[in-house]
Amino acid sequence: MSEKTPDRVFIFDTTLRDGEQSPGFHLDGNSKLRIARQLEKLGVDVIEAGFPISSPGDFEACRRIAREIRGATVTALARAVREDIDAVWGAIKEAETPQIHIVLSVSDVHIDRKLGMTRAEVLKRGAEMVSYARSLCDRVQYSPEDAGRADPDYLVETVETMIAAGANVINIPDTTGYCLPWEFGEIVRRAIEEARGSEKALFSVHCHNDLGLAVANTLAALAAGARRVECTINGIGERAGNTSLEEIVMLLSVRQAKLGLEGGVDTKEITRASRLVAELTGTPVQPNKAVVGANAFAHASGIHQDGVLKDRLNYEIMKPEDVGLSDSRIVLTARSGRHAFHHRLGRLGITLADGNVEAAWQRFLQVADTKKEVTDEDLRKIAAAASEPNGHETNGHPPVTDQLLDHNHVADTLRHLIFG
Ligand SMILES: [Zn+2]
Repeated sequence: MSEKTPDRVFIFDTTLRDGEQSPGFHLDGNSKLRIARQLEKLGVDVIEAGFPISSPGDFEACRRIAREIRGATVTALARAVREDIDAVWGAIKEAETPQIHIVLSVSDVHIDRKLGMTRAEVLKRGAEMVSYARSLCDRVQYSPEDAGRADPDYLVETVETMIAAGANVINIPDTTGYCLPWEFGEIVRRAIEEARGSEKALFSVHCHNDLGLAVANTLAALAAGARRVECTINGIGERAGNTSLEEIVMLLSVRQAKLGLEGGVDTKEITRASRLVAELTGTPVQPNKAVVGANAFAHASGIHQDGVLKDRLNYEIMKPEDVGLSDSRIVLTARSGRHAFHHRLGRLGITLADGNVEAAWQRFLQVADTKKEVTDEDLRKIAAAASEPNGHETNGHPPVTDQLLDHNHVADTLRHLIFG
């Protein structure tokens, strides 16, 4: 497999549409444009800019993104009604490559309880709206909503009806995050193999993370023949979120030899994108989040630190530089060993005289026992104290002004005062 040219997987980013729909994640037009520019640098294939019918502000944000962004297709979401489609077209028609995205349910539970329609009515409405959208725009994507819980035969019928009506992308969503990877792979495989005309369309997927399976389901769909994935930066999105862009992209990159697929984005822009989205949505990334969490390349235990410092391959399957981080973080804690301690001192340009090494190490252990993390500032003090003739800071305590300038100390004191 590794000898074959990898198959291209197209990356569709919906941070600005599904991601922005997360509770408390509202982004104004300027913020959306800043994220869109970063997505452009990242080199995603498609940017879903928003849901233009939802508000005049979102319509305008989509229009600005469509006018400015180059190199990526710009799309926006419409329900299967003319007003929505007109709003999308009004917002994105100035894009270099515009695409209209139509969504209409396919599961019986949605058709019956959400739309109050019959299957036949849904097929007719969907086909009419696809051909209306095609009268405006060359590229039309159709998403049969809640495909993960739909009757597979009706899904196949829907897919072939929409392709016949002019849809060039079929995006199969697991809207509720319900499917198992092998089930979802089978749904996608059947749609591709059994729908007549499927060779005329690009197959895409949109997975949700309610059971933590969004990336696994997306991967199963790729194995079944899908070649476009919908995803978001930091995995944000409705409820538990969407397939995380950084995870699926790094998965394709790290396991390329096995999978024979490639994502085509500049992975070195991933960290910048993640931080920008966290900053503008005001929602930090969980520290243990794959690829972009603060701890994703951090090592705290002595055994792991020693291993990584000898050779990164011991504990790292990808290089921090590949996602735009400058280096692995060697976090000094009470669990760290001498190797990590001297490594960090070396990075600060501190060399201890032979006679002071043991005193500094003992002082480090004392400090480490009192804090979560020993900082660069602490290390400088430890080194200075170890060089004092009596082995301690003046009178055994750092000066008061020093303590006040130590942000960790201030934060700890405040936490103590507030939370007891
Ligand atoms: Zn969604």
